[in-house]
Amino acid sequence: MLTVNGRRYALPKAPTVVICVDGCEPDYIAQAVSQAKMPTLKRWLAEGTALVADCVIPSFTNPNNLSIVTGGPPTLHGICGNYFFDRASGQEVMMNDPAYLRADTILAVFARAGAKVAVVTAKDKLRRLLGKGLAGICFSAEKADETSRAEHGIDDALGLVGRPLPSVYSADLSEFVFAAGVRLMETMRPDLLYLSTTDYVQHKHAPGSASANDFYRMIDSYLARLDAQGAVVALTADHGMNAKTDDEGRPQIIFLQDVLDGWLGPKRARVILPITDPYVVHHGALGSFAVVYLPAGTTAEAMAAKLKSMPGIEAALSKEEAAQRFELPADRLGDLVVVATKHKVLGTSAARHDLSGLSEPLRSHGGVSEQKVPLLCNRKLAADAASRHWRNFDAFDLALNLVV
Ligand SMILES: [Zn+2]
Repeated sequence: MLTVNGRRYALPKAPTVVICVDGCEPDYIAQAVSQAKMPTLKRWLAEGTALVADCVIPSFTNPNNLSIVTGGPPTLHGICGNYFFDRASGQEVMMNDPAYLRADTILAVFARAGAKVAVVTAKDKLRRLLGKGLAGICFSAEKADETSRAEHGIDDALGLVGRPLPSVYSADLSEFVFAAGVRLMETMRPDLLYLSTTDYVQHKHAPGSASANDFYRMIDSYLARLDAQGAVVALTADHGMNAKTDDEGRPQIIFLQDVLDGWLGPKRARVILPITDPYVVHHGALGSFAVVYLPAGTTAEAMAAKLKSMPGIEAALSKEEAAQRFELPADRLGDLVVVATKHKVLGTSAARHDLSGLSEPLRSHGGVSEQKVPLLCNRKLAADAASRHWRNFDAFDLALNLVV
């Protein structure tokens, strides 16, 4: 057994794969299975483990990927968004530098104990966080043509996978992750393998649509190949995904900076959208979670009360309330945390969001409405693993400790 962040994990008896399917609202799988697109997964649902788990809030990619690989909430690992306002430097900064990660990963600890560990992510932004302290293989599909043994633990990942380098805005980017996982399993046979895809398809296509079903059929074909290699495979998601539109498909946006400018005067409050990252074309940096830094003389309680009375606002919490309710690091939050309802997103100012790249009706995430995610395994849950409140960051616990 190895102890990581206070949780104990058995050494893998068979190659163990944990997959984070980005933006996998449980209905994507339900629809694809019911339409006979996922025969392998259908068998797992019957013969393996099928649970629904809660992801961490904000229901964004980085906080949840880091929760899955550390086995705990953001209070443990410190990553609570893609982006935050660093009060110390007075700068708005990306939180993708490994220096911001406050906990060891299960991956790094297993590698240190002698396990063969490999990680493949879709976008390079996650790679350095997931690979912090890891003596093993860690590369992204996005930059698979740039790998070296010194930096990524592998020379020529592109050659290993044998597919062309995918575009960062494509379903291919995720397929490349799966193809790489299968090739690694066929060649080095890692003890632990973590695969993390991108939600490009889920931002554009609803569960049960032809494009979504094609994507999940693709996933199923790779699950079958990992299964055939004798691997224990657990699948979960970083967050769900919902339509953020009205019945006509128009985006439903609350421009929070404009609202606060109206109440307090221009630019006195500062709204930060932690979904913001260098790849915003498919969602316009619009999600259902925002943090607000308030000017002196304004209390969080008073602003929260005003915001809560607005339609479309599900929660407006002081920093302390949000840190406790969502298990977030208070030192990286604003004075206020604001969460929108299921079909609404939060923006800064109307003028600051470029929606011209949205070719489909807006779908996004970030709120409590995207908290339910699948937690599945191709092996059966042990009889003594009693019912509990499952989290997506129980995925390694499930795969290593709780299935037979
Ligand atoms: Zn995501």
